[in-house]
Amino acid sequence: MSVSQLAKSIAESPTLRLNEQARLLREKGEAVVHLGAGEPKNKAPIAAILTAASKLNTGDVKYTPADGTPGLKKQIIRYTEENYDRVVAPENVIVSAGAKQSVFNILYSVLNPQDEVVILAPYWVSYPEMVKMCYGVPVIVKAEDGGFVPRPEDIEKSVGSATRVIICNSPNNPSGVLYPESLVSWLVDFCERKGIWLIMDDIYHRLVFDGKKSPSCFKYTKKDTETSKVIAVNGVSKLYGMTGFRIGWAIAPRPLVQIMTNVQGQITTTVSVLLQAAAEGAMSGLQSAVDSLRLQLENNRNVMLQELASFNGVKTIKPDGTYYCLPDFRAYSQKSVELSDFLLKKALVVTVPGREFGMEGYLRLSYAGTIKEIQEGIARMKWALDPSAPNEIYVGDKKLVRDWL
Ligand code: PLP
Repeated sequence: MSVSQLAKSIAESPTLRLNEQARLLREKGEAVVHLGAGEPKNKAPIAAILTAASKLNTGDVKYTPADGTPGLKKQIIRYTEENYDRVVAPENVIVSAGAKQSVFNILYSVLNPQDEVVILAPYWVSYPEMVKMCYGVPVIVKAEDGGFVPRPEDIEKSVGSATRVIICNSPNNPSGVLYPESLVSWLVDFCERKGIWLIMDDIYHRLVFDGKKSPSCFKYTKKDTETSKVIAVNGVSKLYGMTGFRIGWAIAPRPLVQIMTNVQGQITTTVSVLLQAAAEGAMSGLQSAVDSLRLQLENNRNVMLQELASFNGVKTIKPDGTYYCLPDFRAYSQKSVELSDFLLKKALVVTVPGREFGMEGYLRLSYAGTIKEIQEGIARMKWALDPSAPNEIYVGDKKLVRDWL
């Protein structure tokens, strides 16, 4: 088949592939535990449903401006003021089909072929592929100490004359770690001195635990929004568990938003008016849903850590936020793809291999599900891997006997 070399080189999203595998196994009646999920089980906030439903009832479902409806932009401006202490204009805001499209639009709008994009590891699986789709070159920076937070020296070494962008995601998918304020302020200052765009993917920034707060990237810039190099990306997917609504946005200087709007206008025209209405409803309604999601995640994180603590040889850095943790399974296998496949086959537990996030030997585990799923999932993983665990386990009413340890 004749297809583009570039398109052929783009990897399948491993998280979407695993979701599909889990769905197919469940359809066959298998009792799968999904510790790979990037979404909680909550229902969308009622305000989102009512606003979208009332828009639908008018029957007036048409195109909207390519950069978003004035109503949703108004809520995004209010959100930016409340959470970032930054007053921005409607011309600084562009709504897209999820934060994923926001990040892609930014990269497409700022990169020339062979420009380099520095990505801090561990990183969200889609960044390197998106950079490649824009004919750019991903440059991965790992913390030299093997941890989850690269140091300024590590980053500086990877920046050269071809660097156009640094992408930073904190709290971080997959590690759950919140980057220290000192690193965020250094990144802002460094990028603005060097004239490099800094994409702050803040999609989890309000899902932070233990009373901590995610630092506002705009706090450290000495420039105004029009001359700053900082671009903040956000959305409703993680904040309200509204993953299927596909609404994200970027805050950037006006000329860049204009270019992104032209790009988006030629590709998708706009995002569905119904989904924008839903996001506007969620953002203008009661915000208690965010607090209850955060508290539920914090509690789930605690249960996950407790379960992992009794797993021989597994080391876990405590996540500060998000839906995820990234335990080190190198005591069991250096090859995370094989380990993840083994766990799905033998124990019917979905995990995401760390290799996909630049951390070979680790597994990303999600605590966005129920406590029961976390306990059941970890118990099955222990049974499959840890010789000190009982060698029989019940999965549904099926008794499984371990015969490989
Ligand atoms: N950024 C990060 C770090 C993510 O983890 C995700 C989703 O998993 C996204 C962006 C995409 O979010 P959205 O559903 O808004 O496209």
